[in-house]
Amino acid sequence: MTYQELYKWGLGQLAEAGIAEADLDARLLLEEICGTNRSYLLVHGDEPVTEEQRESYVNYIEKRRSRIPLQHILGYQEFMGLRFKVTPDVLIPRQDTEILVEEAMKHLHDGMHILDMCTGSGCILLSLLRYSNDCIGCGADISEAALFVAGENAKNLNLEADFIQSNLFENVEGKYEIIVSNPPYIPTDVIPTLMEEVKDHEPMGALDGYDDGLYFYREIVKNAKDYLFLGGMLFFEIGCEQAEDVSGMMKEAGYQGVTVCKDLAGLDRVVYGTKL
Ligand code: GLN
Repeated sequence: MTYQELYKWGLGQLAEAGIAEADLDARLLLEEICGTNRSYLLVHGDEPVTEEQRESYVNYIEKRRSRIPLQHILGYQEFMGLRFKVTPDVLIPRQDTEILVEEAMKHLHDGMHILDMCTGSGCILLSLLRYSNDCIGCGADISEAALFVAGENAKNLNLEADFIQSNLFENVEGKYEIIVSNPPYIPTDVIPTLMEEVKDHEPMGALDGYDDGLYFYREIVKNAKDYLFLGGMLFFEIGCEQAEDVSGMMKEAGYQGVTVCKDLAGLDRVVYGTKL
């Protein structure tokens, strides 16, 4: 069997199972197994696969058919051009979240103190640290299992950050110039409508924003001011229908220059403001 034949088989299997991006997933799984990239498979598609490669691929395709997320099979996800380890204990880093990192970076200067509330895999904090100099980063999360993954990611990227187990600000100390957060923001009753990959495989604690999805924004807006220097900024990722609520909360709490930014799909995705 050749690469091309194996790929076609995998694609057929995933398409039949109704996997959204069947062609992409079939290709990425094959590339992972063969240790090749797209152009190699295009040019050398008629080369034979080994029996070992075929078996591994069949195994991966079966997993993906059963709705296990691609990133759980691969064990990683790219984010901000960096590779993050991913396990079922952390939210899979999303491309939309890069908007949050990019907005924060516009206001981040060397040597600043950054707090990432609900850090999960650590992808936001570690990206900010990777693309700045001498910043001091702290990532807080209630989940010890998530913090373990965040710590591994820091190690893999050769970065230093302080990861602390904390129910929101409970164990947070000190003051920061920048607080970033992509908290759980899905209303509880919307969770059953999510894709199986998400609702059955990603950590509920990373998704569930309780009744109206805004619980964590309320808590963080209320408390963050005690942990921000004067002139410090709070950045949130939000669900696309939450801009009005979250910016309203921030204005009411006295944040200045409250701004909403859109993602690449033109949807509201980030809200930030300054403590003055
Ligand atoms: N901060 C992490 C991320 O954006 C985790 C977010 C979460 O668990 N809600 O990927």
